Amino acid sequence: MAYVFLDFPEFAVEFRLMKEEFLHFVWRTQSFAQLPLTTTDGKVVKVEYPGFLNRHAGPDFIDARVQIGDVLWCGPVELHVKASDWLLHGHSGDPRYDTVILHVVYDKDQLVPSNVPILELKNYIIDGQWNTVQQWKNVRDHIPCGGNFAEVRTVVRTNWMNRMAVERLEKRVSEWRGRSLELNGDLLQLFYEKFFRAFGFGLNGELFEQVASRFTFRNSLRILDEQELLKAVLLQMFGFESARSKAAVWKRAGALMEANQWISLPPQALNTGKIRPRRNNKIRVEQLAEELPRISHWWNLIFNKAEIAEWKSEFYSKGKSNPLFAHLTVNVFAPLLFFLHERKMDESYAERALELLEPIPLEDNRITRLWKIHDVVGTNALESQGLIHLYGMYCETRKCLSCALGAEKLKKNEHDEILI
Ligand code: SF4
Repeated sequence: MAYVFLDFPEFAVEFRLMKEEFLHFVWRTQSFAQLPLTTTDGKVVKVEYPGFLNRHAGPDFIDARVQIGDVLWCGPVELHVKASDWLLHGHSGDPRYDTVILHVVYDKDQLVPSNVPILELKNYIIDGQWNTVQQWKNVRDHIPCGGNFAEVRTVVRTNWMNRMAVERLEKRVSEWRGRSLELNGDLLQLFYEKFFRAFGFGLNGELFEQVASRFTFRNSLRILDEQELLKAVLLQMFGFESARSKAAVWKRAGALMEANQWISLPPQALNTGKIRPRRNNKIRVEQLAEELPRISHWWNLIFNKAEIAEWKSEFYSKGKSNPLFAHLTVNVFAPLLFFLHERKMDESYAERALELLEPIPLEDNRITRLWKIHDVVGTNALESQGLIHLYGMYCETRKCLSCALGAEKLKKNEHDEILI
């Protein structure tokens, strides 16, 4: 809904499209042009805690602690662009709003029949803040705030990047939850499927996972120590043609598949993308066959929360960091540790997941390169995972008002505490 402030023309343009989202930001981050705040009936307002954002029905902020005059109040706070929205939204007579301690509005346009004190924000909004937010929303740049976080305090940046990396792991875990239920909590099979998926990368991940659900972990155990046979089974499962030089093992693999009804993908089912030749898919399946016998080793390291020192020998291959290991760590090992943290309610699994990402070099992909253009360069996979999440879940969807880095750039005083 658009709002026009005819009685305050200087605000008419700037706030024409104001949304409650912006007022939420101002209240949550407590970023005001001046203090003290006063209610419309002249009482001084001191905010000890603005409350936490309520994402469900009911008042906007819960458990706030606000001193109004001489009395410290604890309870919900409701925000509106106009005071009359209290009536428009049907809060009068709604018992959920009976305990509201403060009604924060941009404009007290009319008297509202309610005993709740009103704080009018009109005179407390920082000059140009709303305009900046609007520019960020409308600019076509990938990273509308312009990136370059040199002016953002290190503590804010580090905390936010950690939080982004954790959110990314949480997101992945939530995607795994459904499959775990289908598997009746069989974590080894879940791990095995995600291990397969990692070898399919973005383009063929689904198909690799599909093969893992047909040729299960228990199936694979029967031939895990017969490398050539395992390779032949996997190649046939992925729909590849016979390798003439290995006709005998190929035939044996075919017979085994038929006897056990392991149903393969149709020939040429794997996507090739625009550039990569099809043989790259074959190489990936062969790589999978080579790494699969180590799956129990990986599982033990993860499940037993192996010390980072134990992982270190896996980090490097012939003196160089091992890119396949880095890929598996980011996409399978760290998420599984996070999944176990949720499943076992053991925080140390989550800590190990984050620790595991720290020695892995920064990922080089489209999104990290984009951040580089904006002078944002991370050092390790924990940061690149954070940057990927920040870009995909915040910058692209223009959720700058929910971003701690955006809040830092918008705030007036560099010593203000930012509560996001
Ligand atoms: S979400 Fe944050 S980092 Fe991304 S453009 Fe907005 S303010 Fe900048």
